[in-house]
Amino acid sequence: MNNDMKGMLFDIQSFSVHDGPGCRTTVFMSGCPLKCEWCANPESWKKEQHIMFSEGTCKYEKGCNICRNKCLYGGLSFDENNKPQLNWEICKNCKTFECSKACYYNALKVCGREYEIQELIKILTRDNHSWSSNGGVTFSGGEPFYQSEFLINTLIECKKNYFHTAIETTAYIDNKTFLEAMKYIDFAFIDLKHMDREKHKQKTGVYNDLILENIESIASSGKRIVLRMPVIRDFNDTYQNIVDTISFMKKNDLVEINILPFHRLGESKWKQLGNEYKYKYEESTPVKKLEEIQDLFLENNIACYIGHDTAF
Ligand code: SF4
Ligand code: SF4
Repeated sequence: MNNDMKGMLFDIQSFSVHDGPGCRTTVFMSGCPLKCEWCANPESWKKEQHIMFSEGTCKYEKGCNICRNKCLYGGLSFDENNKPQLNWEICKNCKTFECSKACYYNALKVCGREYEIQELIKILTRDNHSWSSNGGVTFSGGEPFYQSEFLINTLIECKKNYFHTAIETTAYIDNKTFLEAMKYIDFAFIDLKHMDREKHKQKTGVYNDLILENIESIASSGKRIVLRMPVIRDFNDTYQNIVDTISFMKKNDLVEINILPFHRLGESKWKQLGNEYKYKYEESTPVKKLEEIQDLFLENNIACYIGHDTAF
């Protein structure tokens, strides 16, 4: 193993109980090849470090302006109320983040930090005592396969330490790399956002061919695979898409799916990144709709968990 290998992570959360069996540590890896319009973690898209500005955290109304004059590139100005304004055309390419170093309130925050594999293993070893007997580590994102070499090498180290390993993935990666990593994975949530390749591309930016190929290639491995579908109105919640998903699952002997209601919890992050959020007027998925979809899966002997109800 290359001991100097580093991976970019944007968060590590201990005591997670919804990302796989038992109590877990979830490692959020930066970078994603998909760009889902409803994404609740848009800060995960870029692999490189980037700035986020949280207006709600900023103390400009109390007179703070410590960050004034700290930017060397003309990225930071102040409006007539002395509120900081980022010029996103400049800030999205920043590499030094002087403004953030000046902000003690974390209103200007750098997203992403590099970790060496052994540094991460140390954190997981520390958390190991809090995992229940079936708990462990979950690699999430972003898309963990976006840094596949780091992912695979970290997984190998996890297995040397007898950690239970899980992944939350879009499976958008070449099949050889996918199967190589899956050798070291005990449990997987795999996203399947739409069965129609053109519709999949319209809303996520990529075709679903690789994803379907990867799911098919792992389906009979004996590993526990739970598919996951965020329910997006007038996109994938149609009768036809659910029927097509059922037929794909039956063909591959897949028997579990987790449907996730749409929510707007990620909206403020789109603003903090200087991006427009298209779903700001969209309501959460009605429970009735979720139950209708659940019924269709159940009628076909497919266990369908809603939200955080996946049985582990
Ligand atoms: S230093 Fe931070 S809290 Fe103060 S004005 Fe700048 S961004 Fe806001
Ligand atoms: S992110 Fe970089 S360019 Fe933007 S205000 Fe901060 S220091 Fe300036």
